[in-house]
Amino acid sequence: MIYTAKYMHQILDLALPAYDELFQDIDISNLIENKGIIYFWTDKDLKSRELEINIRKELGVEQQLLTPHEIHDLEPHINKIYHGGVLYPQARHTRNPKKILMKLFDKFIKLGGQFLKEDVKTINFSSDNKPIIKTDLKTYNFNKAVIACGAFSKKLTDQVNEKIPLDTERGYHVHFKNYDHLLSRPVIFLNRGFGITPMEQGLRVVGTVEFGGLKNPISKRRIQNLADNAKYLFPELRKHEDEWLGFRPTLPDFLPVIGPSKKIIKICFILLGITILDGRWEQYQEKL
Ligand SMILES: Cc1cc2nc3c(=O)[nH]c(=O)nc-3n(C[C@H](O)[C@H](O)[C@H](O)COP(=O)(O)OP(=O)(O)OC[C@H]3O[C@@H](n4cnc5c(N)ncnc54)[C@H](O)[C@@H]3O)c2cc1C
Repeated sequence: MIYTAKYMHQILDLALPAYDELFQDIDISNLIENKGIIYFWTDKDLKSRELEINIRKELGVEQQLLTPHEIHDLEPHINKIYHGGVLYPQARHTRNPKKILMKLFDKFIKLGGQFLKEDVKTINFSSDNKPIIKTDLKTYNFNKAVIACGAFSKKLTDQVNEKIPLDTERGYHVHFKNYDHLLSRPVIFLNRGFGITPMEQGLRVVGTVEFGGLKNPISKRRIQNLADNAKYLFPELRKHEDEWLGFRPTLPDFLPVIGPSKKIIKICFILLGITILDGRWEQYQEKL
């Protein structure tokens, strides 16, 4: 746990300044909130809470312990089931990630980038080791390629002879439309392993970790459980919408795979969707 926390912290520490750099190029007015995030809990499993707080303290993460009274002052609409919490004041959240992505996408196209919506079927290599990508529509010869297909990447990483033990932690999602006024910032209820974020689309409730592969159908029971948990915190919630199952890419140590292939120099991986790289990126660029 400490190993994973240490290395995730190195990456996450770079995330906010890296986003700031990207945001210099687009207008993010009304899309980003700087109100931190609150984790809260009941008096069960307090040893785990203590461990998490101590690890973050050792890593130098800014955190403010909250009494139940302070949680209530910050988020007065949450049912008072909690016994303690912590505020991470540096955390930010977006009210609409899709709008930000579309702005970055438009910028990419303006700068000369090209977008082709095709299904990559195979990766092979030319005699000088350059990638040949075959899609459902065409075959392309490239100088370099980056595999960044999230949880679906394994099919392709296997083809470049990299044995990456990639799996998926299936996560569930629902919206309660027109209830976003009930929260000011994201909150995570640690005892039940789910979180709620106020978004333009309403209150977004996400959670659960399910190891069930990429093909099994959505579990209605998990959706119901998520909705019931949200109602436990906000008894005024009524009908939920937008039931969704997503696939978080994951590895046994929970760390991302970022960097060049050890086997084929012209291939690079970004698995876990974290596009922020550590100090070794210069070194990776040289290799590519
Ligand atoms: C319920 C839920 C809530 C989450 N909440 C958060 C959160 O609050 N904050 C956070 O940071 N992360 C969150 N995550 C995790 C986050 O969504 C993932 O880490 C992230 O989406 C991974 O990004 P990615 O670009 O690597 O992969 P993806 O977003 O999965 O994108 C992969 C892309 O590759 C495409 N693709 C796949 N196979 C092929 C192929 N053969 N050919 C061509 N294209 C292909 C797919 O169509 C897709 O567009 C959440 C995940 C879930 C499920």
